Amino acid sequence: MLENKRMRQIAIYGKGGIGKSTTTQNLTAGLAESGKKVMVVGCDPKADSTRLLLGGLNQRTVLDTMRENGGAVELDHIMRHGYLGTKCVESGGPEPGVGCAGRGIITSIGLLERLGAYTEELDYVFYDVLGDVVCGGFAMPIREGKAKEIYIVASGEMMALYAANNIAKGIAKFAQKGEVRMGGIICNSRNVDREVDLLRAFSAELGTQLIYFVPRDNVVQRAEIRRKTVIEYSPETHQAQEYRNLAKAIDENTFFTIPKPMSGERLEEILVEFGLMDMMEDDYRI
Ligand code: ADP
Ligand code: MG
Repeated sequence: MLENKRMRQIAIYGKGGIGKSTTTQNLTAGLAESGKKVMVVGCDPKADSTRLLLGGLNQRTVLDTMRENGGAVELDHIMRHGYLGTKCVESGGPEPGVGCAGRGIITSIGLLERLGAYTEELDYVFYDVLGDVVCGGFAMPIREGKAKEIYIVASGEMMALYAANNIAKGIAKFAQKGEVRMGGIICNSRNVDREVDLLRAFSAELGTQLIYFVPRDNVVQRAEIRRKTVIEYSPETHQAQEYRNLAKAIDENTFFTIPKPMSGERLEEILVEFGLMDMMEDDYRI
């Protein structure tokens, strides 16, 4: 495979339900609008990472296709073209409870490479990765040196920050050995008090930046019901502009670091400072 120097491969991590898929697809739509060529590789067995770009088209996953077609898989079988030509792939997963879901990711990436999906013209590849923790399977895109740039989606809620700190631990481990770097935290707002300040403080403590603050807005759900990104469904809205700005912030980002995960105590101190947690007796510490 020809090495494509210009292409940026980005993994998006974050707690389940935090808004990874919504945010990834909307920012992808923003990049596509500005003329960038983008591929999105869904790495969640739920296989809903490309639904808004494809207008709800039921995307056959790579693993399902391989099971059904045996060796005879062509690129057209696993890659669909979505909004403004974005390339969409869902790696899929094993039957629930059987095998490591992370395996599907590396199988998919390997197949995409063999079938020539990583073309010269691509500016970006996004991996929308499930999970709170970067366990063996879900670390695949960074472990294998595919994604070199990571963003974590978080909010001002306690569990989202715990998850983000855990993910940062996983990233730090790989970053020390290789080229993978953290590009920032994306706040997907839950309208928590002092959320911007909290996320700024949290990001600084992690040795990274709050790259963008995405407001919470019901237009996201209205667009989702129509199986569209906000940018496609309601391009004139404030929220559509927010996603364009997020896309621009990522496109122009030059601040890449090895994260410095916090101790449990330090994270709790920050949560206490911002009123998310009462001071606890030592016996009750998490
Ligand atoms: P994840 O991929 O992290 O599991 P999703 O992207 O599926 O999370 O988002 C979970 C839900 O949150 C979706 O139903 C989505 O509509 C909603 N959501 C995400 N971001 C926003 C936002 N900024 N404003 C309002 N709703 C949002
Ligand atoms: Mg998702």
